[in-house]
Amino acid sequence: MNTTATPLHTVCPHCGTTNRLAADALAAAPDCGRCHRPLFTGAPTALDEAGFHKTIARSDLPVLVDFWAPWCGPCRAMAPQYEAAARELEPRVRVVKVDTEQAPALSAALNIRSIPTLALFAGGREIARQPGAMGAADIVRWVRTHLPA
Ligand SMILES: [Zn+2]
Repeated sequence: MNTTATPLHTVCPHCGTTNRLAADALAAAPDCGRCHRPLFTGAPTALDEAGFHKTIARSDLPVLVDFWAPWCGPCRAMAPQYEAAARELEPRVRVVKVDTEQAPALSAALNIRSIPTLALFAGGREIARQPGAMGAADIVRWVRTHLPA
């Protein structure tokens, strides 16, 4: 048995509880310790500003964020592509989305200038950003290029 795997923390997309997992439990479709729903749904989790800050601060996994808005045509066009990318990327990466209409202060603080914008966070800070709509394969490739080792 490999016992060197470090436990990691991830925030439940359903109830917001921070869960502590063995790294090798990721592949076993872990459930939340509080609400018992799957910790990874393979679909982007919609977060408000508070949920965003909590997920970024408490997640040991990289977090991919789609900043979008309901009125934005390219954002709506990219949504199914983003969902397909989430199925590929979770649980290695936590995939979330933030409606900039619902989180204007956050968008301003992060200096989101256009939507859609993808941003990748690791260790509580942003490590890459890419404005503009992308297809699923390009999203997956872009994320994997920037993932920390
Ligand atoms: Zn939960």
